[in-house]
Amino acid sequence: MADLIVSPQELRRRVAAWRREGQTLGFVPTMGALHEGHLSLVRQARTECKRVVVSVFVNPSQFGPGEDFSRYPRTLEEDRRLCDPLADVVFTPTVEAMYPSAQEVWVEPGPSARGLCGAFRPGHFRGVLTVVAKLFHMVDPDITYFGSKDYQQGVLVKQMVRQLGFPLEVRLCPTVREPDGLAMSSRNRYLSPAQRAQALCLIRGLRAAERLALGGGRPEVGALKAAVAAEVAKVPEAKVDYIEIVHPESLEPLTGAMRGEALAALAVRIGTTRLIDNLLLRTA
Ligand code: AMP
Repeated sequence: MADLIVSPQELRRRVAAWRREGQTLGFVPTMGALHEGHLSLVRQARTECKRVVVSVFVNPSQFGPGEDFSRYPRTLEEDRRLCDPLADVVFTPTVEAMYPSAQEVWVEPGPSARGLCGAFRPGHFRGVLTVVAKLFHMVDPDITYFGSKDYQQGVLVKQMVRQLGFPLEVRLCPTVREPDGLAMSSRNRYLSPAQRAQALCLIRGLRAAERLALGGGRPEVGALKAAVAAEVAKVPEAKVDYIEIVHPESLEPLTGAMRGEALAALAVRIGTTRLIDNLLLRTA
């Protein structure tokens, strides 16, 4: 079984011992309720690094009022089992260890946090970057692994690492999907069987845009958006937060005819569950 470490000091001692032996360290930060999407990151870390740490921490500062912090699934024993034998350590710090006093100093994201989820979850990415920075200091990895499922988060973490000079590499790994295309997410377990079927409208919409992009010519961004929206609209229970076509690096909304690559991204609420997904579009 992967060792469970709660104390940051103990983690530092463990990492220092690995470092003395010249071993490389991969780090996968998570909020737990692990699934194959998380495990794909852990597997990738395993192939590139001698040692692997997975953190499981439901970070209060990235949830807004009325969001699902208190009901977020917490399945630590199962998480630990799933990490075996891929991870050396599962690090599960307490809220008190991560936030020993009221947080006054934050990592404030730049303009790439303004749109997409940032527009609907004020303070969310500030909370994410701040906890990720703390975790990077505690774990001190060579390489860290994030999922493209949370694409905006991945872009912002890369910017933070580059602009604040963290001595590590960030890998953005592909989204793992269920066989029917639904992006795996810890929040999928909130869905009833009927809602689980409705949730397929996200990937159907993205694939409709993908077909249009690949269909020849340079489709208008408005038409790509409309293709996504038409699929989502087939499910009356699905309430759209946003459907956007953005530049894959700056995350600025695109206009006019599509050129090169574009990211199609959306957030949809089904009942009380908020789901996100995205797909990188290319013209043929
Ligand atoms: P979370 O536990 O939701 O904070 O996610 C932890 C990490 O796993 C983040 O880097 C996510 O982007 C990544 N992740 C979540 N779902 C998936 C998925 N379906 N495929 C790949 N990575 C994922």
